[in-house]
Amino acid sequence: MSAAPETRKPASGKETGSQENGKAGSTSTSDINQNTVNLQARCSPATKWKLAHPKAVWAQAALRSALKRGLISQEPCAECGALDADGHHDDYDKPMQVRWLCRLHHRREHLRLKCEAAE
Ligand SMILES: [Zn+2]
Ligand SMILES: [Zn+2]
Repeated sequence: MSAAPETRKPASGKETGSQENGKAGSTSTSDINQNTVNLQARCSPATKWKLAHPKAVWAQAALRSALKRGLISQEPCAECGALDADGHHDDYDKPMQVRWLCRLHHRREHLRLKCEAAE
């Protein structure tokens, strides 16, 4: 137990060390902030869409997890019967209410909705 007071001596030296650690921590957080800004500036159109439509991303994520858990089953395209169909949300507040559309008909449906919104 006589070793205990001896180990306390280097502990006082650690105090200056912790101050250095604090400085290092503040610089690393500003680096992270710069990284996120760079990412947003360089991001792809798909990533920009995700940033602009958080509700759509949330609904798609909820649908995906429901598919994984077997709560909902994937269906063929409602227009052409293609098996590789995505769930299209008419209302993002109801993530489980989807229409199954292949990539082509899904894109067409979004174009149609865009046109309707513009009229
Ligand atoms: Zn289709
Ligand atoms: Zn859609």
